[in-house]
Amino acid sequence: MLLRRVCIACALFVASAEVAGACDTAGFKGLDGLRLHRPVPGPIASGFGMRQHPLLRIPKFHYGLDFAAARGDPVQATAKGRISFAGPKGEYGNLVMIEHGDGLASTYGHLSRIGVKEGDCVGPGAVIGPAGSTGMTAEVIVHLEVHVQGKHVDPAPVIDDTPR
Ligand SMILES: [Zn+2]
Repeated sequence: MLLRRVCIACALFVASAEVAGACDTAGFKGLDGLRLHRPVPGPIASGFGMRQHPLLRIPKFHYGLDFAAARGDPVQATAKGRISFAGPKGEYGNLVMIEHGDGLASTYGHLSRIGVKEGDCVGPGAVIGPAGSTGMTAEVIVHLEVHVQGKHVDPAPVIDDTPR
């Protein structure tokens, strides 16, 4: 009897650790009307498009947005979804990728540490790890990419600019 009660408590704990509905990700209908939660409060330090690479000093296409951050700032998920990658990846350093469903995905690079694991379901604003400078960057930044059907898009128009 005691064992059974322990198991019930265990199941309740597991259920409460998952964000309700976070992995129910169907329903994305493109960028129109989409608002993405800002990953960190800092300003956009580098935009999407061609730029002089700050370290390589050559023209290179920048496939995301760099948000200025302080080391350890909690980096937050832009929308609910399922973690599809969490680990070190080349110039991105410690990288987290979230699949939001229906072909929408977001990635977060240069984290100082990975705070989630593959398969986790997160809600909008969930902390995925602290900001850092791992990978190819000299500064503490959050490199955010948004992919639609596998193609990089400029997320700037759909990022929530509400100060917080
Ligand atoms: Zn970047």
